[in-house]
Amino acid sequence: MSEKSKFSWLPVTTLSDGAELRLPLHVLKGDRPGPTLGLTALIHGDEPLPSVPIIRRVLELIDPAQLSGTVMALPVCNPVAAGVLARNSPLDGANLNAAFGESGEDATIQPVRTVSEQIAAVIIESFLPHLDYHIDFHAGDDGLAVHMIEFTDDPDSTAMARAFNMPILLRDEWGANQLWGASARLGAKVIVAECGGGGLLYDEWFERGVRGVFNVMRQLGMLPGEVEKPPRQYVVDNTHGHHRNLVLLRQREGGLLLPHPAINPRASFDGQPIEGAPYLAQLLNSYDLTVHETYETPFARTLMLAAAVGPAWRAAGDTVYILADADAAEVWE
Ligand SMILES: [Zn+2]
Repeated sequence: MSEKSKFSWLPVTTLSDGAELRLPLHVLKGDRPGPTLGLTALIHGDEPLPSVPIIRRVLELIDPAQLSGTVMALPVCNPVAAGVLARNSPLDGANLNAAFGESGEDATIQPVRTVSEQIAAVIIESFLPHLDYHIDFHAGDDGLAVHMIEFTDDPDSTAMARAFNMPILLRDEWGANQLWGASARLGAKVIVAECGGGGLLYDEWFERGVRGVFNVMRQLGMLPGEVEKPPRQYVVDNTHGHHRNLVLLRQREGGLLLPHPAINPRASFDGQPIEGAPYLAQLLNSYDLTVHETYETPFARTLMLAAAVGPAWRAAGDTVYILADADAAEVWE
């Protein structure tokens, strides 16, 4: 990384092959005092793009003379899972983003912890306490793009979500076992940037992520300059007790997923409601060469929070769409 940011390792444990498990930490201090913003990625090991390049570019572009405060980045929170490009850890099968709970008072065999819990403990002890603000990056894969900012009804989280300037926002609640819940518990204001994927429109997603972080930093007063006005934003509510208008669509069978031509990558990147497509995608069985599944649009006007953006070879049970009813969403102009 650039010379202006300091790079070090946070030790976690020693693996059975003798390799040290450690987390990469980058710290960029501004010349002026101010808050600390944390950037994290790869808590799910299969989401490196565009998350990691966004963090690299942000650290590269910030001029310390212009920065009020500090940026701390953990580009790879889950090296064990990232090493095999898997969502969960191959060592304990766990989703690291469910390992951040507080240990129970009645625990009798502490401090015995799974590898994922050990990683979470290091992040809780050595990273999260420094943060005032936190952006956690997630992504899709080569065949799937995710596009939403998750936030809570905390005013600072809401302001950060708005300033990231993505067209779709998801109002949510952080689980106590999640990284986000632990971060908020320790005092940070948090948003989750579900930002694209590694396939089509990679460059645009990368640009959007970098611009989003910079605009949030201007909003927080960490960088000078005018805050860019957000586009029209659709706010989908996923909080407890609210009408849940989200549909998560998984394909039942594996095979070749062929999106309808109207569901092009640009349509999903723009984040505006999809209207009039007769269906979203079809699943072609590559053996008998017939269509086995057709995925319908569930609403008259559909927001795509995650979407298969091009033809792709996908496994049985994979997520192909996360959809919401545009007419049930709040609209922020
Ligand atoms: Zn994720």
